[in-house]
Amino acid sequence: MRTGEIKNSSFVGKEVTIRGWVHRLRKQKENSFILLRDDRGGVIQCVLSTDKIAALTIESSIEITGTVSQDPRAPEGGFEIKGKELKIFNIAAEYPIGEYQSDELLLDKRHLALRTRKMIAIAKVRASVLHFGRQWFVENGWMEVTAPIIVKGAVEGGSTLFKLRYFDQDAYLSQSAQLYLEAMIFSLGPVWSLTPSFRAEKSRTVRHLAEFSHLEAEAPWVDLEDILRVEEKLVSYVVHSTIEERAEELEFLKRDISDLQKVEPPFERLPYSRAIDILRSRGFQISEDDGATKRSIEFGDDLSIESERELTREVEKPIFVVGYPIAVKPFYVKEDPQHHGIGLTADMLAPRGFGEITSGGQREDNIDSITKRMLKEGLNPEAYAWYLDLRRYGSVPHGGFGLGIERLVRWITNAEDIKDTVLFPRTRSRVEP
Ligand code: ATP
Ligand code: MG
Repeated sequence: MRTGEIKNSSFVGKEVTIRGWVHRLRKQKENSFILLRDDRGGVIQCVLSTDKIAALTIESSIEITGTVSQDPRAPEGGFEIKGKELKIFNIAAEYPIGEYQSDELLLDKRHLALRTRKMIAIAKVRASVLHFGRQWFVENGWMEVTAPIIVKGAVEGGSTLFKLRYFDQDAYLSQSAQLYLEAMIFSLGPVWSLTPSFRAEKSRTVRHLAEFSHLEAEAPWVDLEDILRVEEKLVSYVVHSTIEERAEELEFLKRDISDLQKVEPPFERLPYSRAIDILRSRGFQISEDDGATKRSIEFGDDLSIESERELTREVEKPIFVVGYPIAVKPFYVKEDPQHHGIGLTADMLAPRGFGEITSGGQREDNIDSITKRMLKEGLNPEAYAWYLDLRRYGSVPHGGFGLGIERLVRWITNAEDIKDTVLFPRTRSRVEP
């Protein structure tokens, strides 16, 4: 049995058998208290006579048979098991993780730190986010696909590419499935995928991983506004379903969900040019390339983490920043025919400084325009020959977006660092465990 089933008044007085690990141990003269953790992360207090448990250590694996009783003094819900029999599977060696540990040690020992209740709570929220993300697409008639991870071309620019030796040629780890999804819409209609994306992010931030879970979608015959409506519905659905399913975990994480409860469409569409005006009016400064000097933000600058934080400091719902200059966006972003130099693109920024969680919009569908843009960015169109075919054979207006699962989980759980939202984080300085 598991603790979730046992902590229920109908079990009081009944005999149960439960398996798990010694999460905490308090040995006393006659009786000892074990906080047992089951394999779903639930815990229950078990009382056993001290002579029975003498050999036990933290994280030993055990099975206890005993009678359920209700006692308001018992931690974690007022139920406990008065243990009669104890079966030991393994006596754990001295456990390297104590109550207070440095973040670094917890990362080094991540294979064990997964047993901490904070990690269990976040893992459960993450599972719900993945589940409800999938569910939204399935229920709305989008087809799930997967794209290759080993690829030949860059999507987001060469500086974050991971190169690998692929038999006798060079290849790369995928930064995004987008180009492949674009190929699929001609025969499969609206498609979505959930695959890892890889970025050799050089700088250390609390919102970049070298490997992340990328939820991407692409559809034919849509414009920017259609895509934004999909994004806001999807994100609202995932947020609401997750806070309902994981109320207990979010409470454990001390996440006040009152702002999340308000998340529903429509999200504000903030034109990029307005965003710049707002930042300028607040005297916002950005660092120059040398890092030492600062200047006011200007039209044409990309929005940095700090500028996104400033824009979302006071808002409770995500916002879309719409219409970035195409110069700061990749070659496939379609230029707004009404506004020269402006892209039909938007980033969704999460509230309270969490910043970008999605990026999407309409794709350039004209072969001449996209070829020109590639050349301007120093890309060789020949390297994208198959992709350009999509503009050659029955091109249609189309668009899509990408959402970083860890960014969304970080916002929902209020995690300080994106590394907390993934079980085994990969960063510049960490490929183990
Ligand atoms: P940023 O400006 O924050 O680096 P980006 O513009 O590189 O993001 P996109 O290429 O548009 O991001 O990717 C789509 C989404 O994937 C982003 O909105 C974000 O949620 C997520 N994402 C991008 N890079 C990372 C990363 N290194 N780690 C985690 N998630 C990421
Ligand atoms: Mg980036």
